[in-house]
Order: sequence, then structure tokens, then C-alpha cells
Amino acid sequence: MRCPLCDAACDGPAAVGSVIFEGQLYVYRQCRRCGSAACDPMPDAATLARMYGPAYADQDSDPCVEDPKSPQMTLDWLRQRPSGVFVDFGCGSGSLLQAASCLGWKAIGVEHDEAVVRETEARTGCRVLHGLSALRGSELPSVDVIHMGDVIEHLPSPFEVVSHLVGLLRAGGWLMAQGPLEAGPCLFTAALRAAAPLRPRRVTQMPPYHVLQATVRGQRVFFERVGLAEVTYTISEVAWPAPARLSTTDLHQLRRVALFMLRKVSQWSSALNPTKWGNRYFYVGAGGGRGASL
Ligand SMILES: [Zn+2]
Repeated sequence: MRCPLCDAACDGPAAVGSVIFEGQLYVYRQCRRCGSAACDPMPDAATLARMYGPAYADQDSDPCVEDPKSPQMTLDWLRQRPSGVFVDFGCGSGSLLQAASCLGWKAIGVEHDEAVVRETEARTGCRVLHGLSALRGSELPSVDVIHMGDVIEHLPSPFEVVSHLVGLLRAGGWLMAQGPLEAGPCLFTAALRAAAPLRPRRVTQMPPYHVLQATVRGQRVFFERVGLAEVTYTISEVAWPAPARLSTTDLHQLRRVALFMLRKVSQWSSALNPTKWGNRYFYVGAGGGRGASL
């Protein structure tokens, strides 16, 4: 297969464990150029519909895992330009739509599941469209800003989707994106990869939610490929998937304590090289320009 991010050969062995969902085995292949990993095969449309029903939106989160999204950073960037049309692609419950509306933006959401579309529209009073096909069929005016918060890593065909979104932007409009860099680079990821051959290969029963596990290099090349000119690309390192904090009962769980400590050391080392190391990115790119090179 080709790497969905940089389009190079993606057929190397990946350290990421395989998953089984509805009897189908999904393995991960590593890109030989950018080091990102991609799911093989990609889930088809019918499988995606079952993966992302209302049950997905209602999932309980682990109270010891911090929420890595930075809505405040998105809103700070929105304040830097005159208000216009703002599309939140993957708007979820619509909290960012409401916040953008309060800043004077005409906020429009897009969601994958029809029930979530109805609920979010009723809750926020903002227009919410059902998936990319509804967005294609809508007669939206040129869009000033599109936001994708923790979305790209879920897309089996990210190039097609993001290219289409970039085509909706007015000249100089922004695509803002943020999400995980599960393939780093950072010390935490490197240590887990080094230890992978020593651990028994486990196959987990769960849907392949993150079909892409990106590196900094793969993610930046991807944004260039879709025709965006980089305005900013910042990297941080959050605790996830390690616990953000420990309780006294955790002290008896050696693995949990080890992951917590490894992340602390990794965050310290990444702080020494903040433009290259980390596990989470925040990107703003302008439509109609030329971006960073590989
Ligand atoms: Zn690649």
C-alpha cells in the first residue's frame, strides 16, 4: 500500500499491535519514507458507520487521561482575522461551534453520524451537515476557516477528504488542524518501539479507530501535498496514552507507573527540541500557497 500521508511505499513492519473488529483482522504497515503507520486494510464505509454511531460519542473517558484538545488555541487564532464562515469538520457535541459563534463567526458543523448531527444542531442552534457528501452538496459560500480537531487520524482516505476541504477555502483561508503524532518522534515512542520485539504480540479486540499513526515528517508533507502553505506548526507532548497522573492504588501496577515515569522523562527530553519532538501537533495552513518541503 502507499502511505496515506506522504505517498511513499508503506509496507514495512510496524510496532503498532493489530486489532480485530467484527472478525476482520487489521494490521499496521510502516511507511519507509516518513515512518508513519497505516491500517491495512482500511475499514470500508459500512464498517465506519458501525464504528462511529452514537455509542462512540457516548464513550466514557478515563478520568486519568487528560483531554489533549486545545479549543482555546483555535479560538485565539480565530480572533486574529475578521470573522466569516467557520466549518468545524468533526464537530462532535458542538462546543467549538458555540464558542466561534460567540466571536461573531457563522459556524457550521460536519459530523459522520446522523443522530449526532440532529442532536448537535438542536443543542447549538448551528447548522450541522451529515458527512462530506452533505458538505459537497451544500451551497456554502467560500469558507474562511476550516477546523479539524482529532479527525485526520480517523480518515481512511485523508488526501481526498482534506483536498476537498482545501478546495472550499477562499484565497488566503485557513485550514486549522490538530491531533496526535502517535509515531512521534519522541523518547516515549522510541522506547516502546525498541521494546516491541520483547513483548508477546497481542491482537486486541477493538475497532481500528486511528487508521493513521503519523510522524511529524509525514504530517507536514501531507499538508504540503494538499496544497496548503504552512502558517504555523507547533508540537507538544501530552501524557496520552500514558496516565496523566497516578493515584495511590496505581502504585501497585508496575506497568502503569513505568509508563507514567517514561512519559515524564520523554516530555523533558522533547522540551529540549520543541520543533521536532513530541506526540501532538497544532497546524495552521493557508489555501492557495506552497508549503514546507520534506
Ligand atoms: Zn509516509
